[in-house]
Amino acid sequence: MNPEMGEIHIDQTITLGNEGKEISVLLLKEEIGHGLIGMITSKLFPGNVALVAVTGSPEDTDFNIGYHGHSRDGKSERIGLDEKLIDGLRTKSDESLFVLLHELGHLVNKDVVAVGEDFERYNQTRIEKVKSGEVMEMELRADSFAVEYLGIQASINGLHALMDREKAYYLSDTFIREEVEIALAETGYRIQYLESIQFQDKS
Ligand SMILES: [Zn+2]
Repeated sequence: MNPEMGEIHIDQTITLGNEGKEISVLLLKEEIGHGLIGMITSKLFPGNVALVAVTGSPEDTDFNIGYHGHSRDGKSERIGLDEKLIDGLRTKSDESLFVLLHELGHLVNKDVVAVGEDFERYNQTRIEKVKSGEVMEMELRADSFAVEYLGIQASINGLHALMDREKAYYLSDTFIREEVEIALAETGYRIQYLESIQFQDKS
């Protein structure tokens, strides 16, 4: 074994969903090389997905709480989660499971937004949508994927927890006020969307 890698200690395996759609999350006790903190496997994905710890601090303007990314050749996928979300995974918090499943939803739905021009375009559309009181279709579809696994109430709880944390993060003055308002409004609309589905289910 490469001595720089250190030893690998497995914390736990979390299994989500039922047969056929099962997702396994192998979680390590601590990061090994390049921030790798776990591995996600499912028949739904073409290959294993690396779970990596997001580095940087919430005060950085390009900080991302959770993301779905891929390598340059597009072959190896990875999900990045910040430290608090990874801690939350260990206790299976609604917030952490929801964010993870949302990002995996993007992967299953093949929603790929490349860094650069592609992302700029995506972000522009996203901002315009939010300003007119809407959320991008691909975001709602990724949320629906998470709902299939967690159920609606836990998903709503997860989004509320996420919103509270976004508020706390964004209170630092490094953030541009307008961007903060867009992010919070978007999370609010996502909650409303799930609540409307919940309401329909009950009626
Ligand atoms: Zn998303």
